[in-house]
Amino acid sequence: MSSKKKLIDNFPKGFTPRAGQTELVNQIEEAFKEVDIVICSAPTGTGKSFLAKTLGNASDKYTDSFVDDVMSYAAFNPNLNRNYKEFAGASVLTITKSLQDQYKELFPSCESLKGKSNYQCKIEPELDVETAPCVTTPSIKKGCWEDHICPYYEQRNTAIVSRFSTYNYKMFMALPTDLKNNHYLICDEASELEGELVDHFSVRVSAKLLKFLKIDLKLPGIHNYNKVLNFVRDAAGEANEATAGHLKAMKSKPSTVNAQRYRACSQFADKLTRILNTWETCEYVVDKDKDGILSIIPLYVQPLGHSIFKYGKKILLMSATIIDHKNYAETLGIEKYRYIEAPTTFDPDKAPIIISGKYKLNFKSLHENLPKVTKLIQEICDYHDDEKGAIHTHTNHITTFLKENLDGQRFNYREVGNNNEQMLIAHAEHEGNSVIVSPSMTHGVDLKGDLATFQIIVKLPYAPLADKRTKILFEKNKNWYSSQMLIGLVQGCGRGIRSIDDECVTYIVDGGATQAINMSKDKLPKYFLDRIA
Ligand code: SF4
Repeated sequence: MSSKKKLIDNFPKGFTPRAGQTELVNQIEEAFKEVDIVICSAPTGTGKSFLAKTLGNASDKYTDSFVDDVMSYAAFNPNLNRNYKEFAGASVLTITKSLQDQYKELFPSCESLKGKSNYQCKIEPELDVETAPCVTTPSIKKGCWEDHICPYYEQRNTAIVSRFSTYNYKMFMALPTDLKNNHYLICDEASELEGELVDHFSVRVSAKLLKFLKIDLKLPGIHNYNKVLNFVRDAAGEANEATAGHLKAMKSKPSTVNAQRYRACSQFADKLTRILNTWETCEYVVDKDKDGILSIIPLYVQPLGHSIFKYGKKILLMSATIIDHKNYAETLGIEKYRYIEAPTTFDPDKAPIIISGKYKLNFKSLHENLPKVTKLIQEICDYHDDEKGAIHTHTNHITTFLKENLDGQRFNYREVGNNNEQMLIAHAEHEGNSVIVSPSMTHGVDLKGDLATFQIIVKLPYAPLADKRTKILFEKNKNWYSSQMLIGLVQGCGRGIRSIDDECVTYIVDGGATQAINMSKDKLPKYFLDRIA
């Protein structure tokens, strides 16, 4: 960006920034003069996508030689070892494909890279890239690259050199390290970053998996930390060796199972190497479930935030659900940052939150109070009898209880055998007053317009303490635990409000909500508090 040009001058062409957007862009510009990381609480109606695109337009361009190297695949030749240090362009990292699609829809020049299963192979069009012939016979890839025919690899290269691209976190982490340096790295849905990092640095191992990968090791017990570390070390070594063997087997005898074994083994080796490299700094939690599956999960993610942030010269973390920014920054190991709460033009009267304080649903009172809460839910649904809605149950137990006790044919329950995607399609196609009932629709689900003009949050979404990592963190840092619950609550309350024109009333029927919210007023964003009726 020229030194005279202001950041707001890069607002996407064809759109006029609202006063609030100009103010926000100016605040971010000022903040970036002081710090490299900005945390932005950006509720519905802020225009997060416009903000991201503004940064993309303002970003430095990649040099011609970098673009040529990437587009000609020379940059992927390990023998050339060019070790690029170009920090240019802007990448937006998201959790959901639908958010990537929204960016693309709004800004057609945005280059979006999705997982391999989203692209069809050019050589065998009935197969996706995940299962294409080059997976079992890697030499095929060379020809496809030379002829520039592969839709996945061509799109990957285009996204890398684009000044504005979107990836999901996993795809981004899998890109070659020297080809993903950005002028601006924008983490959308940034409240999910901790979970993404935990996932990236965790492994689950069963005896069955070791057998499939042909790794001759026994799972260790969980109480001797040194033995677990030795296991990780040995397994990493064996997995690396086994991967080479599986690659050979795949080349000499191409088959789906050989390809699966090779891919699984190589991913397993990568995971173990990541864990080994961070063993000392992250304090891993080791556990085994009732099926004997060993899990190794980082307790702290402070040292891991850097594994993403190092790929941006300037980093914008934005989310509608940044709760307690100090705790958030500390959790991710961010020391120096600016926090900005974006102004919103959203009318809280269009999305009131009504809390019933009658019945608490905690561990002790659930059994006694759930029937009473169910009656309340029935009354609310009957009141909204000609509208579509959603009920967020938080647990399978509550979903089943509601199924057994709510009257009416309008309810579509999440059960074994159906998933949220199928339920959402059925809900959208239903011409009547259907209500979806699910424990897992508080994140990443768009219930826009008429899809939900009312929704009910049955229980405050506290993470289960049966999870060992959660339990340890709960004991060490109650702030973290309550923040996680509040993130889930604010996320859930936002499902029916996807644009400033949306209208949706949210009922919270867990009587513990008022106290939990009152105790955290200083941590919760203003736009959320304004909605409480
Ligand atoms: S590289 Fe070739 S074989 Fe592999 S997915 Fe692409 S088009 Fe298919």
